[in-house]
Amino acid sequence: PERSTVVVGRDATRAGVPIGPDHFTLLAGPCAVESLDQTLESAEMAKAAGATLLRGGAFRPQTLPYAFHGLGKSGLRILAEAGAATGLPVVTEVTEVSDVALVAEHADMLQIGARNMQNFGLLNAVGATRKPVLLKRGIQATIEEWLMAAEYVAQRGNLDIVLCERGIRTFESATPATLDISSVPTVQRLSHLPVLVDPTHASGRRDLVLPLSRAAIAAGADGLLVDIHPDPESALCDGPQALAGPEIRELAAAIRRMAPLV
Ligand code: PEP
Repeated sequence: PERSTVVVGRDATRAGVPIGPDHFTLLAGPCAVESLDQTLESAEMAKAAGATLLRGGAFRPQTLPYAFHGLGKSGLRILAEAGAATGLPVVTEVTEVSDVALVAEHADMLQIGARNMQNFGLLNAVGATRKPVLLKRGIQATIEEWLMAAEYVAQRGNLDIVLCERGIRTFESATPATLDISSVPTVQRLSHLPVLVDPTHASGRRDLVLPLSRAAIAAGADGLLVDIHPDPESALCDGPQALAGPEIRELAAAIRRMAPLV
């Protein structure tokens, strides 16, 4: 009956970062790792805003085959270096079963993206690691399907699972996805797992990130995942949704006001 807390990045030298009911957690970083400078700068911005986990993409699934798919292995190294420099444990997506061991070597938490929520081979593979898993909701997944995807990870013995609502496809086309705020309290009643909200990928628009973040906090989310970039205009992917300096400060202030446990 009690809600779980998942600790990310705990080892012999670090206490780790808790995600759960008593610890509102901000995960932030660049949607795609582009260079060491850009990632370091993003990591510093994230930390200054109160983020305790650095989230960035090295393997980037994309709808368009011509879009930037990430730096792969060198992106993982850059992310790990930026994480070490700022003291922030690192979260990144893994898209292929064959990359799970490599990504687990460089990251403190493994993200399963919306497009892979029902990639059962991948769920089994991350379930066999001892790294916490961030499981995003599939764009067309019901809450039950999402929880059953988590069950795949759990049945391999890995119980360190954090869910992330990132919007679902509806008839509404004003935003890439419709943030399903009701999923937050619903999942918290059906499951003991922590639930984050990603207002960035749901809205695709930087001006909507702050209002959706406020809604997520008010609904009881255990944390937020947001994209940031030191220069969104030059971002290699998803620039229009990335927060830069002023918006990050505004978001940090809203979190301080509404979720003082951060
Ligand atoms: C991401 O988090 O980088 C991402 C692409 O999001 P999603 O899998 O939710 O589309």
